[in-house]
Amino acid sequence: MAKKQFKAESKRLLDLMVNSIYTHKEIFLRELISNASDAVDKLAYKALTDDSVEVRRKDFAIRLAVDRDLRTLTVSDNGIGMTKEELENNLGTIARSGSFQFKKDLEGEKSPEGVDIIGQFGVGFYSAFMVADKVTVTSRAFGAEEAWQWESAGADGYTLNPCDKETVGTEIVLHIKENTEDEESYDRYLDPGAIAALVKKYSDYIHTPIQMEMEHSRRKEVPAQEGEEEKPEWETYTSLDTLNSMVPLWQRPKGEIQPEDYNGFYKEKFGDWEDPLAVIHTSAEGQVEYKALLYLPAKAPYDFYTREYQKGLQLYSSGVLIMDKCADLLPDHFRFVQGVVDSQDFSLNISREILQHDRQLKIISSNLEKKIKSELMKLQKNEREKYERFWTAFGTQLKYGVVSDYGAHKELLKDLLLFHSSAGEGFTTLAEYGERMKEDQPYVYYVSAESVDRAAKLPQSERILDKGYEILYLTDEADEFLMNALGEWEGKSFKSVSEEDALPETEEEKEAADRKAEENRDVLDFVKETLGDRVKEVRISRILRSGAVCLTADGPMSLEMEKYFSKLEQNGPMMKAERILELNPDSGAFAALRSAVEEDREKAGRYARLLYGQALLLADLPLEDPAAYTELVCGLMK
Ligand code: ADP
Repeated sequence: MAKKQFKAESKRLLDLMVNSIYTHKEIFLRELISNASDAVDKLAYKALTDDSVEVRRKDFAIRLAVDRDLRTLTVSDNGIGMTKEELENNLGTIARSGSFQFKKDLEGEKSPEGVDIIGQFGVGFYSAFMVADKVTVTSRAFGAEEAWQWESAGADGYTLNPCDKETVGTEIVLHIKENTEDEESYDRYLDPGAIAALVKKYSDYIHTPIQMEMEHSRRKEVPAQEGEEEKPEWETYTSLDTLNSMVPLWQRPKGEIQPEDYNGFYKEKFGDWEDPLAVIHTSAEGQVEYKALLYLPAKAPYDFYTREYQKGLQLYSSGVLIMDKCADLLPDHFRFVQGVVDSQDFSLNISREILQHDRQLKIISSNLEKKIKSELMKLQKNEREKYERFWTAFGTQLKYGVVSDYGAHKELLKDLLLFHSSAGEGFTTLAEYGERMKEDQPYVYYVSAESVDRAAKLPQSERILDKGYEILYLTDEADEFLMNALGEWEGKSFKSVSEEDALPETEEEKEAADRKAEENRDVLDFVKETLGDRVKEVRISRILRSGAVCLTADGPMSLEMEKYFSKLEQNGPMMKAERILELNPDSGAFAALRSAVEEDREKAGRYARLLYGQALLLADLPLEDPAAYTELVCGLMK
């Protein structure tokens, strides 16, 4: 019988398949198994209404077999089968199959995205040609007396001939390609262990049993001879094993699932040693339908805060894995979440889905975002200790989330933030801070420092604490950016305690402060002259209570931001904050400075440098010249 030609678009797709990149090739098995499973479903459905169907549900199966000598891998099913016309239409042209739309993408067949599409979604039956140089399909349709054999070695066409087949169903024999030098070997598709692993990876939840003869070994029962030691002997045997577990955990009713089941599944699937912190098992019906099983890991993976880490959820369609790390399902701020989403709304078939279901994916992703937030809030409320562990692992990610995209996600994320504060040990949420807030309190206060301990002792905090107002202690260098992005909490702005107007001044206070500044103008001018460009200004402080000195910054860049940027651009140009040296006119140190300015200018110069050094130390900024500073202090001791 003469060879028939494929339709033009099928030919091009075949070419693409044959030459597709290696890592994607293994999905051919998933595609063939899914087709077989569909065929079984179709016949099983018929059986509900048609007594002539002889196979019973429990006898439906997909069989795999390898023959190393012949280099064949066989996938057979006892599903509905195909008539001659169906073989011709379904396998002879792509126009019939769901892959039709794919020809659009073929226009850019050289583009890397085009190739990636294959890996992610597969293109059905044709993917067999990624690993096989010849494919033989023998099929007998339900209700037909005769069987037909379709055979093709790729783009040059196919043959279709009558043949014998005892039972209804389809048998697909792949003649596996020879190994090539530059590519990984094709031999693994002839290795039962490797095939079983692929079934586990891609088709574990197909609800039809996928069976293969597997070789095992067992200890032989050898009765011990008298006077002789028992010697272990081993023998091999084969058994027909079911390779897939069939019912995915997320499809089972919650009530039936034990915590160990959830945790075991997590550890096996996502390669973690530790149990997850929390499990979210959820589903939706209606506009979009899906089931999702999500996990919060207990610790950040080692590469979490690097570029290497890939976010994403596994995307299944009716139990078949279609994408391993579907990034679009998870917003960046929740990129620590692991899990699976199963939705029938996505079919295995490519482009249509990518184009049409994009919207679906967005809806699911936005539902999951809300769900994750509400579960985190529950954890925060009911299991605080766990929530704090979560925060320790992933808090930085949530803070990034607030700052990124110009604050677009801050409304969602602000409730999830934790801070240390002057209210006591442990963490507080903004809501809890809000509850403790004094009625006359004008701002939500914060102070930045290297550690909580240091923050508590900073001299500029004193006057705020004296008022009985609570201060948030910021210990991450990037925290001030967080405050900028948040802007306000329930109508009250965030305010650094280092800002002069952090407490409103009365007219009298203002006048008194202005007078003191005027009276001490000569001292301030002297100190400024001594320090030169190191500071922008030396002023009489309005924020110190008992402390003698502190350093603050004018303008938009704070000292903390300077530290942050100086770490980022270690060798680059340094962005500097405009430093203000603040002196407390009521302190003993200031009195000593004043009399030195009047009596001994040389000494006064040393005092000025000393005070500046103290201010740097308090602000956790490096001394310009530690040796000179030590000499200065020691000199003063004489
Ligand atoms: P798709 O599955 O997306 O439609 P395929 O190229 O994988 O595209 O398959 C084309 C068609 O061939 C299927 O829709 C189905 O009707 C038929 N088919 C494929 N494999 C089998 C099988 N094992 N048994 C019965 N029909 C099959």
